Amino acid sequence: MTNQPPHGILATGLAAVQQRLAIAGGRGRPTLIAASKSQPVEVLEAAITLGITNFGENRVQEAAEKWPALKARYPAVRLHLIGPLQSNKAAEAVALFDVIHTVDREKIADALAEEAAKQGRALAYFIQVNIGEEPQKHGVLPRDLEALLQHCRDTARLPVSGLMAVPPADANPAPYFALLAKLAKRHDLPHLSMGMSNDFETALRLGATHIRVGTAIFGARTLSP
Ligand SMILES: *Cc1c(COP(=O)(O)O)cnc(C)c1O
Repeated sequence: MTNQPPHGILATGLAAVQQRLAIAGGRGRPTLIAASKSQPVEVLEAAITLGITNFGENRVQEAAEKWPALKARYPAVRLHLIGPLQSNKAAEAVALFDVIHTVDREKIADALAEEAAKQGRALAYFIQVNIGEEPQKHGVLPRDLEALLQHCRDTARLPVSGLMAVPPADANPAPYFALLAKLAKRHDLPHLSMGMSNDFETALRLGATHIRVGTAIFGARTLSP
């Protein structure tokens, strides 16, 4: 851990990301989601005061420890779940998050729809696609996307508006981003959650509307996520 106040590190990282965004240009204005797993509450609050409003967390439990008080104090904050969801955590996730990026099976779609109705909460939803068909990764396989989407639309009545993916590490991400964009277009989904610290310019060029950026804003994570 460093003794540097969170503002200094953060302001530098955020300015660099904003400059990269300006250079990347592109259509519209992408939503910059600060991936804040493992970041403590002081750092989150510093980020909010620097103008970040969208945050992504990977674990419901960690988010439930860090965010309720902050969300009450800063109502403009929008919280995105970008990590895997178990159906027994659906109630907690619906209560806390505004956008779920990781719908990847029927059971989760059903649990989310049921909880959102019960709690009277309107969230936005992305389906996570295992775009590189990697055995260890979460997400629906590309060939199973259509059936899951149909289930969300016709049975669960879950308002899915986009696709999310994390391409294979150590590969050129461009073909994977392009494939995700093609799938979204084929299914009339306007939103694409793709691109991280190392590759968000490529993702934006290929149509990303939401980018999830951690280390480029916060610096290297000091705690395990
Ligand atoms: C941590 C994380 C990110 C951000 O990754 P960086 O390389 O730190 O920008 C984006 N998406 C998901 C799903 C993550 O877990």
